[in-house]
Amino acid sequence: MRIAVVGAGVVGISTTAALLDSGHQVDCYESGTIMGERSAGSTRIFRFAHVDPELVRLAQRAKVGFDRWSEQAGRPMLVNSECVVTGTDMAARAAAMAEAGADHEVVGAGSGRLRLPVRDEPAVALIDVGGGVVDVDAVRDFLTRRAGSAVVPEPVYRLDVTPGGAARVTAVDGRRDYDALLVAAGANTAHLAEQVGISTSPSLAHHLRCTFRVDGDAWQSWIDKPADRPGTYQHQTGPGQWAVGGRVDPGLTVWEVGKDAAVDASRVALVDYAREHLAVDPSVVDSLYCTTDPQLGDGIHLRRNGPVTVVYGDNLMKFAPVLGSDLALSLTGEEQPARS
Ligand SMILES: Cc1cc2nc3c(=O)[nH]c(=O)nc-3n(C[C@H](O)[C@H](O)[C@H](O)COP(=O)(O)OP(=O)(O)OC[C@H]3O[C@@H](n4cnc5c(N)ncnc54)[C@H](O)[C@@H]3O)c2cc1C
Repeated sequence: MRIAVVGAGVVGISTTAALLDSGHQVDCYESGTIMGERSAGSTRIFRFAHVDPELVRLAQRAKVGFDRWSEQAGRPMLVNSECVVTGTDMAARAAAMAEAGADHEVVGAGSGRLRLPVRDEPAVALIDVGGGVVDVDAVRDFLTRRAGSAVVPEPVYRLDVTPGGAARVTAVDGRRDYDALLVAAGANTAHLAEQVGISTSPSLAHHLRCTFRVDGDAWQSWIDKPADRPGTYQHQTGPGQWAVGGRVDPGLTVWEVGKDAAVDASRVALVDYAREHLAVDPSVVDSLYCTTDPQLGDGIHLRRNGPVTVVYGDNLMKFAPVLGSDLALSLTGEEQPARS
């Protein structure tokens, strides 16, 4: 089959790699750099802790995929440092993990099980024993080696479904027709999907993650969702480095305020948070900006119209290996999409 993929973020490039492995002809269009937009940066949290047991099971399959990629690359892609979850949906995540058979513990302060750079330990916490950190640099190197030759370094201007049922891609070089098309264009997905009659109801916002210096290593990753204020996600991004995202009044990061104002407000809020709650040096040593869709949360969203499949979601890195293989099967008609 001739298949087009729009976007060489982690979703598009992992699908391209899986399609190439099964002998299909693929053009993966990318207007910027491979894994350079929402997939940029060197680390992400990997976790089994979700509120939906189906997503826990998907993470279990993703872990098998990351292990396979690590073996093929000769380099680990996951750092198993554990992931701590605190706050409002802790109990729901523990229940979903129990249902899916994922290893977890619920512990109290003073248990000696928490390794977080905090001023005060949480009173109670869920430990996702198999969670940790994705080494995004390792994933990017591996996928670029496997699928980089299929990347067409051109922006896609227009998508159509032809009267004959083909997916038509208009790029710099003109139009090409394909048997199937995957739109995995991150922030641009909604705009492209609309051209082929697919609505994804996007709600874009600005997002900033800041990195601080921390003494010591081997910290657990941490998802904190307090009842009375915006939550945070936090993890170690390298030796002596601790990244914190979230904890910003949503009104300060809505799309309309503009990138610069949202970045400034986020930075101030994260530094204040770090100063008050964390045992880190509260000067920002690095930061990572991206657009996000705050309505989406943890799920994977698929829409289909004829030969076109659209995929989107807000936390997709941790599912990359299983997304790539499932989307490849779905595009070639060998299996239904995992989720819709
Ligand atoms: C700061 C931050 C923290 C995060 N934390 C986590 C986490 O802890 N755990 C987790 O699992 N996930 C996390 N995520 C989310 C995860 O990284 C993203 O969901 C994932 O990387 C999205 O990949 P994607 O391929 O869908 O999108 P992208 O990486 O944005 O890729 C889309 C690509 O499409 C290209 N494109 C767009 N329009 C066109 C066009 N017209 N023509 C050609 N190409 C086009 C873009 O250039 C881009 O490269 C985080 C994201 C960020 C930024």
